[in-house]
Amino acid sequence: MLKKLAHIGIAVKDLERSLALYRDVLGMHHEGTSAEPDRQLEAAMLDCGGAHIELLRATSPDSVIARFIEKRGEGIHHVCFEVDDIRATLAALKAAGLQLVDEQPRPGVGGWLVAFVHPRSAGGVLLEVAERPKKQPSTGSD
Ligand code: ZN
Repeated sequence: MLKKLAHIGIAVKDLERSLALYRDVLGMHHEGTSAEPDRQLEAAMLDCGGAHIELLRATSPDSVIARFIEKRGEGIHHVCFEVDDIRATLAALKAAGLQLVDEQPRPGVGGWLVAFVHPRSAGGVLLEVAERPKKQPSTGSD
């Protein structure tokens, strides 16, 4: 059902300090940082041989990341797996008795469709499943 590990999401207080670790010390390639105003956070994506680290910083005290850090401190927030068909995956997980945070997939970073599974039903781990954006038909303009 799961295709591969896509990324590990890590809650951080200071994005620049964390980039100094993952990019500058550990040598991962920083693919970019995107603002996600809907989720009140910004996300920096770093590549490590095809798997990724997603650094998440809250931009508001109401953000889930701010609440996570308040409760548990900085650290691993979620694990994300790529799937081919997110709707079929969510239906299968629900049928297996897992508790979905998102009944329907929603837009994530970079046009991916994402959904979360509650850690209560997944051994204490917040699971994210994500479907890669479909290739847009070529406009022939490039
Ligand atoms: Zn994620």
